[in-house]
Order: sequence, then structure tokens, then C-alpha cells
Amino acid sequence: MKKKKIPDNCSVETKLVRGGRLQSDAGETSEALFLNSSFSYETAEDGEKRFSGEIEGFKYGRYSHPNLAMLEERLSLMEGAEACVVTGSGMSAMFAALMCQLKTGDHVVASSVLFSSCNYIITQILPRFGISYTLVETGDTEGWKQAITAKTACVFIETPANPTLELVDIAFVSSLCEANNACLIVDNVFATPLLQSPLKLGADVVMYSTTKHLDGQGRTLGGAVLGNKKFIDETLLPFVRHTGPHMSQFNAWLLLKSLETLHLRIERHCQNAEKIAAALDGHQAISRLIYPGLPSHPQYEIAKKQMSGGGAIIAFEIKGGKKSAFKFMNSLKIIDISNNLGNAKSIITHPASTTHASLGAENLKKIGISDSLLRLSVGIENADDLIRDILGALAAI
Ligand SMILES: *Cc1c(COP(=O)(O)O)cnc(C)c1O
Repeated sequence: MKKKKIPDNCSVETKLVRGGRLQSDAGETSEALFLNSSFSYETAEDGEKRFSGEIEGFKYGRYSHPNLAMLEERLSLMEGAEACVVTGSGMSAMFAALMCQLKTGDHVVASSVLFSSCNYIITQILPRFGISYTLVETGDTEGWKQAITAKTACVFIETPANPTLELVDIAFVSSLCEANNACLIVDNVFATPLLQSPLKLGADVVMYSTTKHLDGQGRTLGGAVLGNKKFIDETLLPFVRHTGPHMSQFNAWLLLKSLETLHLRIERHCQNAEKIAAALDGHQAISRLIYPGLPSHPQYEIAKKQMSGGGAIIAFEIKGGKKSAFKFMNSLKIIDISNNLGNAKSIITHPASTTHASLGAENLKKIGISDSLLRLSVGIENADDLIRDILGALAAI
């Protein structure tokens, strides 16, 4: 197999189409799908040398594989990271990024608004192994300073946060991590790699659920962890290779195809989201509109500093509580009711009763997820069609 190299100075669009490509002797123009779990060697000596690392080459699907290798290289080029590991889901990526480096007695700090499964891992699973945690509100500067201490091994933040779109100042938290020798992990799902580069802002590790915009068409589950070569090779890979949360070859191949259009899709997602946010701004049926691209966002200054666009997710509160929220959802004619996000198809979610229901009423209240809150994942359909759908459903309540 031949590596089709591209010049280092290529921009991200070119990297998303061509980065990491391996070509077989057949000379295929589209990346091939290799549906195999293992590899054979010319000689016994060849096998021995591959295992000792004396010569490079694939050994076994759980260790490395052409489709995974292509995707990992393409994602690394996209993110400007030294290395990447892809996994079977966003949650396995998150769990591996933490668990590969934590041990009993360690302390973890995280933002208080998190995707519910990330919250579950930090507050329910890690404590079973003697790993303590502190949750900090996104904008609580003093809180972050007090929580991150020499005892802190990892800090996990999600910005914008799911579903309230609160922001964490990555450069600020990174400076606290650096001073305390803690590893900063950023869940960059909501911002997407094209709007925010956590590694450039000082993060040590960035993770994705590729299930969202990276696939972008609602077909596969997947995850990715990106960081420097030392962390990936010496800390993450031994954990992943022995515990086996790897991505399937088919999903890796599908994601290679998805990435070719990522820049086009994100551009359209964001244009549509901006138009919809503008159309909803000041609407009489809406009591609160949250979009990082609007100056009315409480942390707009942070958005301007670390994001190059407002993103593809809008949250809003509807007057009249859960009853009105459900009536609105049921009146939509185009937009799907679902709990997923980052899809070509626009999706509306009621987090309090679905994605975040497991947090319980008290926690939901604490982190500002009310019964009136809706999360809109804006797709790539025609913006005017979507606006007509939304305004029509608002008129129906
Ligand atoms: C969806 C999501 C995850 C989990 O990803 P899966 O692929 O569903 O496992 C983690 N973080 C955020 C912010 C998400 O939206």
C-alpha cells in the first residue's frame, strides 16, 4: 500500500478530502474498504519484526487497520494534532481519554453542564474507583481557580455545552491546568473542528463524537481522541489496544467519505443557524434565545475570542412551559423530533424529558435545563423552508 502524501501547506479543505489516503496497487481513486480483522506475513521473521516494531506494518484489527489509520491521519491533519485514535462511539472516546491516565486517589474537575453520559462517567463511575470530582459552573472564574489544584489530574470541559450552549474560556482554564500540571480535555462536539481549535488554545486533548457533524448524516456511531504523539502512543494506545473500544472498519471508511464534505456542510449548517437565530430573535412566543453567534449570548465575548462562528445548534425557551414546548414540536412539518444532533436533517430535542432526563429534576434546575427549553440542531436544508416550519409551529401554540 502506498501513502498518497499532500504538501504540508495545504489548507483544511484539501486535508479533509485527501489527508491520510492509502492507495492499494489497484490505484483506486476512492479510499477502499478493507473488511478484514487480521493480516498475514511473508515470513515468520517478518511477523516477529512487526511485533518488535523493527518494521512497520499492520498486525491485528484491535491494534491498527488501514481504514482506521487513514481516518486517524485525516482527523489529525484536520485538527492540527500530532496523533489521533478513533473509537466505537463518542462515549468510549471520552471514557478512554480519562481512564487511560487516571488512578485511585486522583481528582477530576469538570464543567457543571455536560452531556448526560459524560456527567454520569465523572459523577457515578469514576468515584467507584476512588477518583473524586468537582463540578464548576462555566462562567465561575473563582470557582475554576479554587477547584483546579495540584491534586487535579484531569479537567474535562464541553464548550459550547449541551444543551444550554454555555461557554468555557478554554485559554483561561488551560492556564490553570498548566500551572497545576493537569491534563485539559475538551469535548469539541458542539463547536466542530472547523469553528474552534482547542489544542491551539492550550488544551492537551480534544475529543469528538463523530456520530454528530463529522458523520453528519446520522449513519454511524463513532468517537475520536486527538493529542500529542507522546500522550497517544504511550498513554492512550496501550489502554485502547488492550481494552478494545475501537471503531469498525466500515464506520471508519464511511467517515472518510463524510469528511470530504465536512467544510461545505458546516458552512451551510452555520449559515442556516444564523438565519434562524435572526428570525427567532425577539419572537413573542420565545422567552429566551441562546445562540453563541448572537451578541445577546451572555458569554458572547468568549465566543468571539475562541470560535470562528456561532455553530449549528440553537437553544430557546418557549413561553407556556412543557405543554407549549410539546405543542410546538408536534406542529413541525419538516424538522424531526429526535435526540440526536449534527445531522443534515434538522432535529428538535426536548432535553429535560429525553437526553438529560437521567440527571433528575433538581440537577436539571441547577444547570438551567427547564421544561420550556428546546435544542434545535440546524440541518442543511433550505433556510427559508426551515424558518417557515418554525414560525408556523410557533403560531400553532
Ligand atoms: C453525543 C455526544 C457525546 C457522546 O457521543 P456518542 O457518539 O453518542 O457516544 C459526547 N459529548 C457530546 C457533547 C455529545 O453531543
